[in-house]
Amino acid sequence: MDYVPTIGLEIHAELKTRTKMFCSSSNDPDEKRPNVNICPVCLAHPGTLPVINREAVRHVLRVGVALGGKLADYTEFDRKNYFYPDLPKGYQISQYEYPLVLGGELNGVTLTRVHLEEDTASSIHPEGKQNASYGAGDEGTTVIDFNRAGVPLMELVTEPVISSAAEAGAFARELQLLLRYLDASEANMEKGEMRVEANVSLGQKSKSKSQKLGTKVEIKNLNSFRAMERAVEYEIKRQKEVLERGERVVQETRGWDEGKQATFPQRSKEGSADYRYFPDPDLPALQLSELSELSRECLEAGLPELPWQRRTRYLAMGIKEEDARMLTAEPMLADFFDSVLKAIPSSVTPQMASNYTTNDLVKLIRDTKGRDSEYITDIPISARNFSIILQLIGEKKVSSRIAKDLLQESFSSDRDPAELATERSLFLGQKASDLSPIVEATLQKHAKVVEDYRAGKVSALQYLIGETMKATRGTADPNVLRELIISAIT
Ligand code: ADP
Ligand code: MG
Repeated sequence: MDYVPTIGLEIHAELKTRTKMFCSSSNDPDEKRPNVNICPVCLAHPGTLPVINREAVRHVLRVGVALGGKLADYTEFDRKNYFYPDLPKGYQISQYEYPLVLGGELNGVTLTRVHLEEDTASSIHPEGKQNASYGAGDEGTTVIDFNRAGVPLMELVTEPVISSAAEAGAFARELQLLLRYLDASEANMEKGEMRVEANVSLGQKSKSKSQKLGTKVEIKNLNSFRAMERAVEYEIKRQKEVLERGERVVQETRGWDEGKQATFPQRSKEGSADYRYFPDPDLPALQLSELSELSRECLEAGLPELPWQRRTRYLAMGIKEEDARMLTAEPMLADFFDSVLKAIPSSVTPQMASNYTTNDLVKLIRDTKGRDSEYITDIPISARNFSIILQLIGEKKVSSRIAKDLLQESFSSDRDPAELATERSLFLGQKASDLSPIVEATLQKHAKVVEDYRAGKVSALQYLIGETMKATRGTADPNVLRELIISAIT
């Protein structure tokens, strides 16, 4: 029997705002000391009142515009009631009937909605006594850090239209990139700033278009894109085996065990009715058309170039797909590359500039600087100096060998590469007459090798070219040298 996998994603992202969603406590994801960014509102003291964070609303609406979704005119916040130690109010303020954004599309996947809610506190399970800084010691104890309680959280839900783990991975990566381009979220999965839940079901293959979806299983604790892809693959295989045994898939929430590389049952899924959603009476409903700075036109005008727009622009310049992807995925590198494109003369093609950027420059950044985050955050050479090197190569003023040295040196000092080349006379273009004495001297020095070549050892020629090149300190054109040597010894 053939089964068709269907996947729908629910993705949460912590938004970058100065303060929390409903109070003036600081929203600082890097705060290490527990329970410092807190106040009576996010601790749910009785009698406190929440106030909506405009910056967070704006972030979600901007995401909605970028994704081509329909922005709400009327919107409200609802209480989602459940009890858990990390939820001090006993309810989470979220959106139910009237999300900020409906529909839209990303990477070919149709979106259901994007809404705004608040994050919960973090539950920490100190392991043994070494974690005494939390004031707990015994194993089995859970302590709560409220720094995260009330941090603005965007939730994006896709329709169940994704059909493979790879497609799900590509979608989530593109969303992360978009959030970074919009400066809406750092969206780092390892830090929990972006959290992906994958819903997976298997349907039976049928000829009719209107295929019935199978029972879905929701997978949580996915801490990386890799983990998400593996978990989805695992789950497709597991459900297939269940169905092939003639059993039924149980609707439930499963976790991902990174060590075992397997999903495991966590809890059976409660229906949405259990949450007893109702509009939060402490918050006003919003009529967004009354806020002109949140109008579609205004938000649209403020959008940067989006990742897919940038990729398309690079492709149109003749840059190969792989490079266009890599540049776009590294916003700082792409900004650098855009400055280089503006500075180079016509003797340097965009693809050549891209080669030196995505290979040589990136290698230097990795080797010398390392990476202090998931993506490039420091490029020590200026776009101007980098462009000068490209120009020297493009105009055949230095050899590609010398260009690498110039790049290395200019990378560490950010000195003008043309100046460096002049100081050390590294320019190509010595005439044959300048090179002849060097060729002569080298051939005399290596008379034995010359004999070998004459006796038929072809590889000896390469050695002679190499030695002569060294004598010119790499400034000669190897093809010119080859011809000079051959005519001198044959
Ligand atoms: P629930 O009411 O259980 O939260 P929703 O209909 O709101 O379910 O969908 C939640 C997520 O699950 C969405 O991302 C949706 O695309 C996905 N989903 C729904 N049904 C299926 C299914 N049969 N197979 C895979 N994913 C599904
Ligand atoms: Mg739902």
